[in-house]
Amino acid sequence: MPAAHVVLTYWAPRSHSGCVLKGKKMIHRNAWAAALIGASAITFSPAIAGEQEDALIAKVVDAYGGDKLTSLKSIRIQDSYKNAFPGQGYTPGFVEFTALAQDAQLDLVNKRGSVEAWASNWNGAFHVRTVTDDDGVDTINYLSNTYQPAAFADYYAAYGAVIRVTDTLLAFELSNNAESAEYAGASTYLGQPHEMITFEMPSSPPVTLHINADTGLISQMTRATGFGALSYQFRDHAKSGGVTYARDFEFFVGPDVNILTLSRDVTVNRVRSNSFSIDRGISEEPARVDTSEMTVEEIAEGVHHVGTGNAYTVFVDAGDYLIAAGGYAGLSNRLEAYRETIGNEKPLQYQIVTHHHTDHLGGMGDALELGVTFVVPQNAVDNLRTAAGGEITDDRLQILDEKRTIGPVEVYDIWTSHAESYGLVYIPSSKAVFQVDHYNGVYEDAPSPAGIGAVTLKDAIARLGLDVETVLSGHGRIAESWANFEAAVANYDPSPCPTGRAICASATN
Ligand SMILES: [Zn+2]
Repeated sequence: MPAAHVVLTYWAPRSHSGCVLKGKKMIHRNAWAAALIGASAITFSPAIAGEQEDALIAKVVDAYGGDKLTSLKSIRIQDSYKNAFPGQGYTPGFVEFTALAQDAQLDLVNKRGSVEAWASNWNGAFHVRTVTDDDGVDTINYLSNTYQPAAFADYYAAYGAVIRVTDTLLAFELSNNAESAEYAGASTYLGQPHEMITFEMPSSPPVTLHINADTGLISQMTRATGFGALSYQFRDHAKSGGVTYARDFEFFVGPDVNILTLSRDVTVNRVRSNSFSIDRGISEEPARVDTSEMTVEEIAEGVHHVGTGNAYTVFVDAGDYLIAAGGYAGLSNRLEAYRETIGNEKPLQYQIVTHHHTDHLGGMGDALELGVTFVVPQNAVDNLRTAAGGEITDDRLQILDEKRTIGPVEVYDIWTSHAESYGLVYIPSSKAVFQVDHYNGVYEDAPSPAGIGAVTLKDAIARLGLDVETVLSGHGRIAESWANFEAAVANYDPSPCPTGRAICASATN
């Protein structure tokens, strides 16, 4: 995961939510974001609930508190998680878990929410709060003391993820959407008879609840999304204010565990209306550069930075051929835009693979088809072969070892907080580096914030003694000046909880 980015697209509201190639399937680069996003493609035909549905819904409502559930006005869910980011480990060998804390407060009457999330690990930190205020839904970034309009403006789009990870709220939604419910058959789960019911929730494909036939409690929720089959497990039920909830929650993407709950506390009808505002001292973030259209920008003679959204590639003219770095999906489109804009038809001969993370290999099928030779860290070769989806013969692989010079480009094998082995691209003639996931130039007229990734990148550049004037990003359109990059790094606060807010204050002790 990119350092400043912070998950849940949650990690960072509008940035870095690419797709990840995992096996042959495209999944979201971070499944917490997948859990958040509706990803609706499946249509669902509502039907009038019949007797079987009515009886099952009544059983669930009863198990979750009866009137106490149906008259619920507000709920607060405070969670401590371990969260995995598939394809984003420090090495390709396995995926480390990140500690993540979440404090969710929902006003069920007025359909408002406040969801604060905090995480800090070796590769970065994030501390954000999505909140419904008088102007709509905003996302606060406490690490930069700024806010911006949230990517998801609607109640279910913004807070559906919280509803889906909370069995109490699934029961509440089921009772409110009873007319869309359909009995989905009997099953057994963990040795107990279960009954299934499917119902419609806004901003999501239909959800299926697996209900313990004896107790009426929800053991599991499943739904099919563009990211694959998602499964939410609930166990160890307790009561709070007369309402039932599971203390133990796990989230799976396909067969892989993605979120484990370390603790969950639920309180009901105690959320205050002053929770729904932006804190004092938080100001609107600087204007972001527009990335909605594909752009082709000349950095220096023969050096172009090309892309849109969060996917950028640098193309370097080496005389008879081109060299590219930046491997997100859509590589062919970026090459086409480059060719159309500057009329350069030279063959793409080299593709530099920065590191093993699968999101940065999404365009490698294109590269293979274009006939490139890959320059790649040794530990990224397996993931590259999987992502390219076809045979890469040995003569088309150049393994990166300390330093390799290809025409006007130098590639250095460095280590940072982000990856054990990472290919840093340096173009001496223009004193530019191209990097991904360490620093993203996103603001028009202000340095973008730096995380630990930027700090360790700057250290690596210092160790190499490179003379750098421009920092190019694979995730951001801005070609940042070294002065701005240095200023951002100087501003980096290594405290895991600079704000001292309750959600993370204990982490600083
Ligand atoms: Zn990465």
